[in-house]
Amino acid sequence: MIEIRLNDNAYEQDIRELLMAFYPGEGFVYEPGKADTRLTVEGMAAEDRRSFRLRLIFSGEPEAHEMRSLPPELEREAEHADEPILLDYDDRTDAKNKIKRRLYVLLMFATGKTLPWGALTGIRPVKIALTRLEEGMDEEEIARYMRENYYAGKEKTALSIEIAGREMRLLSQMDYRNGYSLYVGIPFCPTTCLYCSFTSYPIAFWESRMDEYLDALFCELDFVAERMGGRAPDTVYFGGGTPTSLREEDLDRLLRGLHERFRVRDALEFTVEAGRPDSITREKLRVLKKHGVTRISINPQTMKQETLDLIGRRHTVEDVKEKFLMAREEGFDNINMDLIVGLPGEDADDVRHTMEEVSALAPDSLTVHSLAIKRAARLNIKKEDYRGYPIINTQEIIDMTARCARGMGLEPYYLYRQKNMAGNFENVGYAAPGKACLYNILIMEEKQTIIGCGAGTTTKMIIPGENRVERAENVKNVEQYIRRIDEMIGRKEKLLADGNPLPARP
Ligand code: SF4
Repeated sequence: MIEIRLNDNAYEQDIRELLMAFYPGEGFVYEPGKADTRLTVEGMAAEDRRSFRLRLIFSGEPEAHEMRSLPPELEREAEHADEPILLDYDDRTDAKNKIKRRLYVLLMFATGKTLPWGALTGIRPVKIALTRLEEGMDEEEIARYMRENYYAGKEKTALSIEIAGREMRLLSQMDYRNGYSLYVGIPFCPTTCLYCSFTSYPIAFWESRMDEYLDALFCELDFVAERMGGRAPDTVYFGGGTPTSLREEDLDRLLRGLHERFRVRDALEFTVEAGRPDSITREKLRVLKKHGVTRISINPQTMKQETLDLIGRRHTVEDVKEKFLMAREEGFDNINMDLIVGLPGEDADDVRHTMEEVSALAPDSLTVHSLAIKRAARLNIKKEDYRGYPIINTQEIIDMTARCARGMGLEPYYLYRQKNMAGNFENVGYAAPGKACLYNILIMEEKQTIIGCGAGTTTKMIIPGENRVERAENVKNVEQYIRRIDEMIGRKEKLLADGNPLPARP
């Protein structure tokens, strides 16, 4: 346990997130004496709010590690580690960065560890590089900026800049500022995966009531279509859940209903997650093709059968191959595959084997995730049951997946991080030239208003010129979503109300 003791909670979250990166899996307390703690992190803002004193107090012997050959920016900070941090406590961004840099250095000496992303804990590190690129900074300046402000490592900085450059080129081909994208949530799956933290309900329970869900969804889509005044979305994305869990006739009804309301054929791309191979049939693939779906995702996560069984996927490695080849036969020329590094019990050889198997199938894009253990996931709730299955993720494994992806002719085009990720790494999307998913870039870099419809979805409206996002959330519970659909529409209506900026393209 770690105690966090602050006289002002303004930066509590930033402090806690960096602590989590150094001490994964650790719990936190905020009241002295409430639990056995090995470390107290004390942060005291001065009364005039012009300085902040940060101290680590260990319950036993103070921990100290010698750190050799530090880069100059870390050496500089280390020299002043015992002094108060001079800052303007009310300049939030600057103060936050200064506090995090100091805490990083203190924790680095305490643990003997450095982190690949340095003091960066946010989920969108590429946004930092992309914003600077758009402002006209050159790559060298951005690299220096990321090193000096966040202590980000050389490799992660270079990867961020490479991806930002690719994103900028891709975005320059579309008029994203004047458009919007549509996300439709289908929160049903064949079974629930061990690590799942998404809104997902077993399809078997809802199949007989699917008309109720689709009726509610169509009410919401009616409102959005009317509000958008006939404008075609730039991108359409069906996620969830696994949309292909729906019966063929329900999928057909859903897609027909979508076309009746939106000019989907004018969209730049239309993705449907067909993630679980156990949800795919040839007939469903034909329904998707008939309705103009341009990109699908078939996700093995791993090509090791024992792991698939352990994580509750209820499909085989052979199913992955069979459904992938079936989709090719049905004419899908843009297929993504998702993988997870750090699945329980898997080591570097297992990941290498998965990469070889996937490489033989030659998908058009690949997303390599680092396992994130979310609070609501079964893997967390029942963690005692999985004690015998270590979670292994290292820079070497991540590097190997990157080499394999590039060897398949795929280039990194978007990246994001999550909380509680194994190894504190990142998720990277790779794609063949011309096969990148624009929706992924738009949502990750918060470039465009995304209208979310369905249970558990969020509408994110970008406020132009203000670097701000406003949100309207739908309830996650399907029963509630159906019952309270008018309220969900009301939330959207309020967000998209007159006076708020709206995409203006006819
Ligand atoms: S396929 Fe995805 S959404 Fe469905 S249970 Fe597994 S992790 Fe959750």
